[in-house]
Amino acid sequence: MKIKKIRILSLPEKFGGRVVEVQNTKRNFTTPTRSAASTEANYKDRLNLDAPILNPLLEIVKLFTKKYPVKRFREQNGVFYKYKREITARTDAFEYAISKFFPQLEQTEMLTIEDAKIVLDLQIESGADVVSIPDITINSDFAGFERHVIAAAEYIRECSPNLEPMPYINLSLEPHDFKGKFDVILANINTFSCVGFIHRSIDKYRANYSYIWKHRDKEIWTHVSGVPRVFPTTFPSSQLHIPQRYGIDTCALKIPRIPPPPTGEKSPPECVLSDPTEYLRFFDRRTIGVFRLPDWHRRYSNNLSCNCAVCSDKNLNEFIEAYLYDKRGKVSQPHLIAATKIHELFASTKEFETSQRYIKENNLGEYFTEKEGLSRYAKEAFEA
Ligand SMILES: [Zn+2]
Repeated sequence: MKIKKIRILSLPEKFGGRVVEVQNTKRNFTTPTRSAASTEANYKDRLNLDAPILNPLLEIVKLFTKKYPVKRFREQNGVFYKYKREITARTDAFEYAISKFFPQLEQTEMLTIEDAKIVLDLQIESGADVVSIPDITINSDFAGFERHVIAAAEYIRECSPNLEPMPYINLSLEPHDFKGKFDVILANINTFSCVGFIHRSIDKYRANYSYIWKHRDKEIWTHVSGVPRVFPTTFPSSQLHIPQRYGIDTCALKIPRIPPPPTGEKSPPECVLSDPTEYLRFFDRRTIGVFRLPDWHRRYSNNLSCNCAVCSDKNLNEFIEAYLYDKRGKVSQPHLIAATKIHELFASTKEFETSQRYIKENNLGEYFTEKEGLSRYAKEAFEA
């Protein structure tokens, strides 16, 4: 996939947000929107559901931890092959979408040039359309960062002129470092038609988000990876819907860290839960909240009010009844959770069509005020 043009369709002066058309050789798309994540594709596989995932973007996310770091690619045979096989399976299945890979690293892992090169090879060989360029070190100086991203982009294009390089910048950098690196990308806008950010808290790293907001008139596709589903705040807002406020075009969910099972147990035993609806969360378009079941009941009682392909106007009890049993007819919490996640993918993607409409009418501020889960971010524009 090659990006041909980033066409800004709407750029409201005050509050922010923007509507952009990313014209490319595979499938044009309009932002803001969210990508489908490979974890969501896994949930979809679990369900017996005909409705396809139609998001224009697919982000394949792999988690690298202290125990399973990126450097294993260089230290053990077979690791590269295993990842390549898994990524290829997804890029093949989502052949109609623009696929990209995001290596979700632990903050502690610093990549070497060799590590970064292997991550590029992995993506190029697995059929990804957009190739993520990981930063070699979060603290690299600007000249070093520029050499690294330019060399990586040249390498990617030498491998195939039909690949789109996407350099990544971590939003947890100090403002001076974040600005410096973002400026490097903007100064090389002929080389880069897109840039990726690694998500960090919008509350803590507001200065960096503000810098992106100030540059929302630039003709570059901005993407953020690693967005948590909800934050443990007083209101469980869906985090994916917040970055659009800062002019970020697309976003993708992070893989949650799952605590390891207790020693001696390989995986938790099946069907021991007394209540399979425990831990369920439901995305709500009306508020952009992702509520636990008891809270949902308090607000809406049995009413779901969603006509997505998963809910298809069922009420809450009917939804649980429909998705509680797996393909073998056994009570299955994972099956039920998969249904809630695919509802969330469909409903939240649809909701971005609504926010696009508000931006076009110069009303994103009103949209943020109306939605209880976004109203904390509904203040007027940043200082210029
Ligand atoms: Zn639904």
